[in-house]
Amino acid sequence: MVRFIEKIAYIAERPPAGNEHVDHFSAADFDPEQVREYRAIVLRFNKNSRDIIAKIKGNPDSIIYCKPLFLEKDDPGEMPAYDKESLDDIFSGQDIYSYCQGEKEYIDKVNSRIAEMQASETTHLSSSYDLALKVIRYLYSREMPLKPVRFHKSIYGYLYPAVDIFFPNNSYQEFILVDFLKNKNLIDGEFIDKIHLCNHCHSAYINFRETCPACSSADINEEDLIHHFSCGYMGPDSDFADSQGMVCPKCKHLLKHLGVDYDRPSEVFICNQCSNILQEPAVHTLCIHCGKPSIPENLFHLKLYNYHLTALGISSAISGVIYSIQEEYAKNLDFIDLSHFKAIVELEIERIGKYGKSKSSVVVFMINNYIDVMAYYGKKVTQLSQELARQVESLIEVPHAIAHQNDERLLFFLAELGKNDSDVIMKKLISNLNNIISENINLPLEFSYHVYEITGRESFDTILQTG
Ligand SMILES: [Zn+2]
Ligand SMILES: [Zn+2]
Ligand SMILES: [Zn+2]
Repeated sequence: MVRFIEKIAYIAERPPAGNEHVDHFSAADFDPEQVREYRAIVLRFNKNSRDIIAKIKGNPDSIIYCKPLFLEKDDPGEMPAYDKESLDDIFSGQDIYSYCQGEKEYIDKVNSRIAEMQASETTHLSSSYDLALKVIRYLYSREMPLKPVRFHKSIYGYLYPAVDIFFPNNSYQEFILVDFLKNKNLIDGEFIDKIHLCNHCHSAYINFRETCPACSSADINEEDLIHHFSCGYMGPDSDFADSQGMVCPKCKHLLKHLGVDYDRPSEVFICNQCSNILQEPAVHTLCIHCGKPSIPENLFHLKLYNYHLTALGISSAISGVIYSIQEEYAKNLDFIDLSHFKAIVELEIERIGKYGKSKSSVVVFMINNYIDVMAYYGKKVTQLSQELARQVESLIEVPHAIAHQNDERLLFFLAELGKNDSDVIMKKLISNLNNIISENINLPLEFSYHVYEITGRESFDTILQTG
């Protein structure tokens, strides 16, 4: 159990006016361990402020990196919005202790949340888990959402400040980590925006240009198409330009009245480089950051959400362990990865489309109350996933195949089994699972499944969407 002393740690080049509740620490050789027991940290703005914040946030212990952190700065107007996000607040012109007394309620709340957090066991396979835990603990301590912020100095155009503070210099890793949190069902959110990123360097600084499909030049102009009724000639506006007015280049007649002599049926594009006349320009992109060309379809599309912690996120933040059935399954089940699974199903779609003699199915198998179960059972989930794996394996063997789409969803490819046969297997699986699991646990798992019989006309993605 963490105990905090009734004191504020003040990090500055010079000590403050004497106050028994404020201890001074030198900014020059600051060590985060020094402030472990303090209620809050006040950092005096100086040329090393960023490094000191990075040291605090870089500490592996939640007691330190989650500690309330305020910045004393005389002209707070200069701080970019993004910098403010890594601080609890910025103030100036007040006595340090009186300021903290004004924030007492906030400081106490954050500290009581820090005190709830159990010492974390480092049992995870990768460092993504350590960082993920840091982020969810930070969000939990502040009850704050994980929201993307527009930031023009980042090459991605957006940042998640609550994640970004844990990475040095705006690494793309932060978006990968957000994805990881989402995949592990620790966060859930509402859609905010979708961005296009360079498929070479991830930059959002991309120029979209309409180009000539023949020579790829962006030097094209849009013009009206003119149709001369009497001779039938059709060409762009510029073909008819003459000092006397509009003259038809074919029959040399003067065009006077729109709707009587001629009309403008549509618009066309003319390439100034190769004189090509085209109806529909192509779209090419150029990354301003790395200079590589691409097309819109090949760019990375990243959806941004305003996230909050799920029940599982909260229980993981407190327990210090991120439970993932996926990780457990991987130890117990003979999985193939999703891309391999997709290749098998696509081959089968082609085979059935061509010969149409046999039937095969894809089953999406779901744990409906996954988040509640994981939040409720915590450590017992290892046992649970072993049971699940055993039952699944006893019914689904080679040549069938198993993959996992995410934590809640398993995918089965059932070769040579149509919808009815697949239904029989799934009913048996669920009944076996219910019998075994209900003996051991109080909150029962709710399973559901969807059988998709392959017709040969679908795509792999449509199959996944129907589940
Ligand atoms: Zn051209
Ligand atoms: Zn004419
Ligand atoms: Zn680029």
